[in-house]
Amino acid sequence: MKIIGLTGGIGSGKSTVAQLFVDEGFPLVDADKVAREIVEPGQPALQELADVFGADIITATGELDRQLLAQRAFVDKEHTEQINAITHPKIQARTQELFDGYREQGVEAVIYDMPLLVDNGLDRAMDWVIVVDVSPEERVRRLVEYRGMDEEDARRRMKSQIPDGLRLASADSVIDNNAAEENLKPQVDQLISDAPWLA
Ligand code: ADP
Repeated sequence: MKIIGLTGGIGSGKSTVAQLFVDEGFPLVDADKVAREIVEPGQPALQELADVFGADIITATGELDRQLLAQRAFVDKEHTEQINAITHPKIQARTQELFDGYREQGVEAVIYDMPLLVDNGLDRAMDWVIVVDVSPEERVRRLVEYRGMDEEDARRRMKSQIPDGLRLASADSVIDNNAAEENLKPQVDQLISDAPWLA
C-alpha cells in the first residue's frame, strides 16, 4: 500500500484537495483528526496531560480545554516537549493502526493529510508527497475571509510553519491552488490517472 502525504501551509486548501481524493474513493487519514481523537474524553492522554498541566484542563463535561492547555504548554521548550512526549507516541500509534487497517483491506493507496509533514520530517517516510501551493498573501486573505481568522493570528501561524520554499522542495507533485477552487479537480483527476506513486 502506498502512503501519499498531502501537505501545504495553513489555508492552502489541503482539506479541499483531500476531499477531492476521498470523492474518488481514496481512504483518508487526517492527522488533525487523529490528534483530536487521542484527547477525547476517557482517552488516557487526557489524564496524563491533566497530571502535568493541571486538573482544570479537563472541563466539567470531561473534555479537553484546548485553549487552556495551549496557554500552559506552548510557553517554552520544556513544556512543549512535555506535551509532545505525551501526545506524539499516541498519535503515531493511532496513525499506524489506521494505515495497518487499510493495508489489511487491500487498499492500493491512502491519502495522509498532514499539515506539518515536511516540518516534522515525515515526508521522507511517504511514498509520494503532494504539496498544495498558494501564495502567502492569498492564504491570509482566505483564512480571514472564509475562516474568520484574525489577520495577525493567521500571519503568526504561517510564520511558525516551515517556509514555503522548503516545503515545495520536498514535493513530488505540486497542486497549484492560487486560482479559483474549480481548478483543483482537474489537477487531482490528472494526478489520479497518472498515479505516479504506483510507478
Ligand atoms: P487547509 O486545510 O490547507 O488549511 P482549507 O482546505 O480549509 O485549507 O482552505 C482554506 C479556506 O480557503 C477554506 O475556507 C476553503 O474553502 C477556501 N479555499 C480553498 N481553495 C480555494 C480557492 N481556490 N479559492 C478560494 N477559496 C479557497
